[in-house]
Amino acid sequence: MAVSGKPPYDPANIFARILRGEIPCKRVAEDEHALAFHDIAPQAPVHVLVIPKGAYVSAADFHAEAPAEAIAGFWRMVGRVARELGLEEHGYRLLSNMGEDAGQEVGHFHVHLFGGRRLGRMVP
Ligand code: IMP
Repeated sequence: MAVSGKPPYDPANIFARILRGEIPCKRVAEDEHALAFHDIAPQAPVHVLVIPKGAYVSAADFHAEAPAEAIAGFWRMVGRVARELGLEEHGYRLLSNMGEDAGQEVGHFHVHLFGGRRLGRMVP
């Protein structure tokens, strides 16, 4: 049982399984720090998920605990994906749900990258 309120990392989560190659994904880019792949249920013409290779439940865990090099590598991958998919000219949106109440379904930190059309105003 977890002693703090922080949920433990579950190595059986779907993104951990994708990282281990146990289930397939539509890969966009990969390096030693991060993997980017298309969301299985896209909410925009471009909807890519970027995940770090390390085991972190949420944005808070990742930024508090990951080595600086892993954090930099992760965000470089986000920029690379936007560039390589041609999203820079018209803009794009980054989003990360943190915790169940915010809609986080998969307990491996991830950033959604949306683009490819004019995006509506952000609403909570
Ligand atoms: P969350 O709600 O921020 O945790 O987002 C989880 C995202 O993962 C959702 O947009 C899902 O559509 C997506 N997803 C779940 N399973 C898979 C999969 O196997 N491949 C790609 N995307 C997935």
